[in-house]
Formats: sequence, C-alpha cells, structure tokens
Amino acid sequence: MFDIVVKGGILPDGRQTDIGIRGGRIAAVERLPEAVEAGEVIDATGDLVSPPFVDPHFHLDATLSYGIPRINASGTLLEGIALWGELKKVMTFEEVRDRALAYCDWAASMGLLAIRSHVDTCDDRLLGVRALLEVREKVKDYIDLQLVAFPQDGVFRDPAAWDNTLRALDLGVEVVGGIPHFERTMEEGARSVRALCELAAERGLMVDMHCDETDDPLSRHIETLAFETQRLGLQGRVAGSHLTSMHSMDNYYVSKLLPLMAEAQVSAIPNPLINIVLQGRHDTYPRRRGLTRVKEMQAHGIRVGWGQDCVRDPWYSLGTADMLDVAFMGLHVAQMTHPEEMRRCFDMVTTENAAIMGLAGYGLEVGCVASLVVLDAGDPVEAIRLRPDRLAVIAKGKVISRKARNDARLALPGRPGTARRRHRA
Ligand SMILES: [Zn+2]
Repeated sequence: MFDIVVKGGILPDGRQTDIGIRGGRIAAVERLPEAVEAGEVIDATGDLVSPPFVDPHFHLDATLSYGIPRINASGTLLEGIALWGELKKVMTFEEVRDRALAYCDWAASMGLLAIRSHVDTCDDRLLGVRALLEVREKVKDYIDLQLVAFPQDGVFRDPAAWDNTLRALDLGVEVVGGIPHFERTMEEGARSVRALCELAAERGLMVDMHCDETDDPLSRHIETLAFETQRLGLQGRVAGSHLTSMHSMDNYYVSKLLPLMAEAQVSAIPNPLINIVLQGRHDTYPRRRGLTRVKEMQAHGIRVGWGQDCVRDPWYSLGTADMLDVAFMGLHVAQMTHPEEMRRCFDMVTTENAAIMGLAGYGLEVGCVASLVVLDAGDPVEAIRLRPDRLAVIAKGKVISRKARNDARLALPGRPGTARRRHRA
C-alpha cells in the first residue's frame, strides 16, 4: 500500500517507470502491478517526472515589489541598489512576509521546491531577516528555504553591516554572503572576502557571495574567494554568484583562474536573466553579454548552476518562478546548443543546484524525500523548449499542486482540432 503512485512517467534519464510514495519518502521506482493499492494514483504516462526545481540564488525580501516606490529607469544594477535603499525605508514586516509567501505559492505551483535566498542584513531592525525566518518556518512542509546573510551595502562600506550580519547569523540565517565588488576599493573587497570566509569557517557555515557582478575585467575577487576557500578548508562549501567580470577578463588570466577554482571546489551561480539585462549597460557597440564563462568552467570540472536572482523587484521587472525560463535564457546566452549541453541546462536547475545547496535526500531514488514534479513534456530538452505546465507537484509526500493539460483548441477548416506542441524527433 502506497500513499501515492505516479504511473508511467519518463525520468530525466529516459527510463519509463512508476514511482511509489509512502511516509514522505520514495518507496519504489519500478513497474508496479496495474491494481497496486494506493491512496492516490497520478497518471503520468509519457510525461516527464523530475525531481523538483531548485533555485540557488534569489532575493525573497525584494520580490514582487516592482514599482515601489518607483521603477528602475536606467535599468542598471547601481540604480537597482539605490532603489532598494529607498524601498527598505518604507517597507513593513508584514509586506515583506506576505510578498515572500505569495512568491512561494508561485514557486510551489511551478515545482520549485528549494530556494536559496539572500536576505539584506544592512538594516538595524533586521526586518527582512525576521520576515524571511518566519516565511522559512511557514513553508517548510513544501519548500526548503535556505537563507544567506547578505550585507547588500557592503559589509565594510556600511558601518553597521558587520554587526548586523552577525546578528542575522545568530538568529538562524545559515549561509554567509558578501558583495566584495561593492566595497569602496579592490583592497577592501578582498579584505571582506577574507573576513567573511573566516566567519564561515569559525561557525561551520557555507559561503555564497555576490562576486564580481560587473563588466570590469579587473574585478578579480573570485581569485581571493578561491584562495580563502582553500586556506580555510572550506572546499565544497563555497559558491561565487554572478562572476560576470569573467566575461570580460583577459583570456590568459582566466586560464590560470579556472584551475584555482576547480582545486578549491568553488561552485559558480550565474543568473542569466539578470546578467543579460544588467551587464553591458555602459557599452556602446559591440555590447557585451556579461554572462560568466559557463562551458569553460564546466570543462574544468567546476560545478555551475543557474540561478533566478530576481522576480518583479528593483532589478528585474519580469520573472515567473519558472526555473525553465532561467535554463532557457542561460542556454541561449551561453550558446549551450549541443544536445548534451541542452540536457545539462536541465540538470543545472535541478541536480546541480541541489548539490550546490547541499540538499539532503534530493532525487528520485528509493529512500529520497518524495518531492517531484510532473511536466507536460517528454524529456528534459523538450521541457526547456516548451516551459510547459506542471501537471502535478508533490512535496514531501503530499500533492500540493495540480494543473489540467491545456492544449489550444483550433478552429481551422481541414486542420486538427487541437495544437499540441510536444514533438518527438
Ligand atoms: Zn543576487
């Protein structure tokens, strides 16, 4: 007897199988008898069944605030940061909490069940921190929310930021963040990386820094981050987010940098939707894309995941909580068009991101946490192409979202009555 059986789905590796769920865990991944006893049977015949989507880089304290108190007219990172400073002064605890919860509803409906969110610690009230700690507790039965203490205004540039970051960690924020390229000088940036990595080592925490989010080819804080990771024995626990300066760096320098990152087991989290709109704003033409060197890092054995970063906030006016939008944009901007590269883009919003976040029990093996998503697509590449409906979402053994298949009905003489855009070669 199972609580739920998902029948006939196609796993990301191409196997067609049933999945039996019992007590919040995956109890069987095999063909089960037609008359299997189950509390609920979901027919997923021919549909992709994937472990849940994972977003390793988001800002839940800013999401769904677009237009408050005004929009970002220049579209730049720096105006976004200034605008966020204005918003911070007027937002309330309830507003931040309710917007974050509304976003988590979107995420649940899209099968996005693990999110690493940075939370601004440059605030004496720690309003965002307190709101997101409450949200983390409220959504814990369906979303794993991991919080990063993020001194947005610079841990040294803002005189109160160091103490407030410590207070946030004391309250239960679990990852150490930073923003070295926003400190006053390159030297201060490097010093901030060192101090924050030491803090993480002391407390046994992971590190995820906004690092080199600029077109300046001489912004090289990732080198310091890799060095400090090794010096402090933090291998496998550190990620550099954005790393956009790498797009513009000298090729010889990068040929030395990538092996250093690989040695230190530092992961990379580019955020293609945001990088493609925020970077290159000071260029005329040719205009740089400003996405980091994804394929080159992967060729060196560096783990790379795609992050979403923003939805409807001071930096980005669009966004849907669909990690397949993120993979779709990343695939295009990084030119990952070989079938194996497209397939990898799907892993970069599922298994690779789960590994970056250190999620326990993630996957579709027997014994894993019973969280999965059924998509109206036949395989991972088709999922990226269609960004299709999530027909069912199961979180920790419970069905939390359903959606009916929704093909267009055509009224074209002599043509079929529906258009179904799924397409197998
Ligand atoms: Zn960010």
